Amino acid sequence: MLTDSFGRIHDYLRISLTDRCNFRCLYCLPEPEHDDSTDSMFNIYSNQTTTVAEKMTADEIDRIAGIFIEQGVRKIRLTGGEPLIRKDARDIIERLGKYNVELAITSNGMYVDKFIDTFNKVGLKSVNISLDSLNAESFHRLTGRDEFKTVYKNIELLLKSGYHVKVNMVVMNGYNDDEITDFIEWTKDTPVHIRFIEFMPFPGNHWRPEKLMTYKDILEIIAQKYPNLEKLEDAKHDTAKKHRVKGHKGTFAVISTMSEPFCSGCNRLRLTADGKMRNCLFAGNEMDLLTPFRSGEDIVPLIHGNLAGKYAMLGGNVETQWELHHTESHERTMMGIGG
Ligand code: SAM
Ligand code: SF4
Repeated sequence: MLTDSFGRIHDYLRISLTDRCNFRCLYCLPEPEHDDSTDSMFNIYSNQTTTVAEKMTADEIDRIAGIFIEQGVRKIRLTGGEPLIRKDARDIIERLGKYNVELAITSNGMYVDKFIDTFNKVGLKSVNISLDSLNAESFHRLTGRDEFKTVYKNIELLLKSGYHVKVNMVVMNGYNDDEITDFIEWTKDTPVHIRFIEFMPFPGNHWRPEKLMTYKDILEIIAQKYPNLEKLEDAKHDTAKKHRVKGHKGTFAVISTMSEPFCSGCNRLRLTADGKMRNCLFAGNEMDLLTPFRSGEDIVPLIHGNLAGKYAMLGGNVETQWELHHTESHERTMMGIGG
């Protein structure tokens, strides 16, 4: 079992398939001045984008995931960057599909239609799609891509195919906070689960305290228009606080990483695209598993060693003045870590 020094059992691994993306979301990778069309791309975070040789191969992902599973991992989520832009994404999903674990994915939704058969084949359990606006123009402004229709259609495709779809919406004050209630209206007749995410600081994403909309802010806005809210029960390791407007088919939740961190129930581990283990999204250090794995070393003690160093909260960043220290405490962008 993967237990840390606070007795938290870790059975959930998030694997980043790539630190690259075909979108340019303002809050994730705001600088647009690079081309992602080839693997030789060189971007502003050049020290954080992997080359093909640095990246775990499909076979390495499969075997390293197998080791984590032997140690007690029961759920794997594929993420990135955008996991579905990897040329061998289908192969990776199929390989991981053979394990007796709950397999899930977080995607920007652009290529879902091209992968839906693979999702069906492996029995993917849950699909999280990022969608920060229900307005095509604003979607374009927020993501840098004019692809609202494609993503929206792909969400409809997933719903029609029977998937439990969670839609991730990062709420930024002054950018898309005016759309919060539009998302709630969507849940009226559609069994979609909206997750409003508090905007988190990462290098280069221009986070400012005044751009943050907290759980409380978001709930107040919703309650003004929909007073008949009911709080739903949260599962043990849930990072989201679930609610429903009475009578609506869908539900919503707020991920309150900034205002009310949920570290005490944390069961998550992360593996970056270049094979580094991180025991927290906000961890200031990471453990290289890929290099020793490639040279035939047993990585199990390294996995346990890294977990033993996990802090109680927020990777040890206990100060609440994020704006003062966040650039020092994070060495990687969200894309570099794997959100
Ligand atoms: N490309 C995929 C996607 O967009 O869903 C997967 C990777 S993305 C980094 C994972 C999630 O992190 C997305 O839902 C995205 O909205 C969220 N995210 C990225 N940067 C964030 C930030 N600064 N604060 C809060 N959430 C963020
Ligand atoms: Fe890409 Fe996802 Fe980051 Fe947007 S949030 S830039 S889609 S990795």
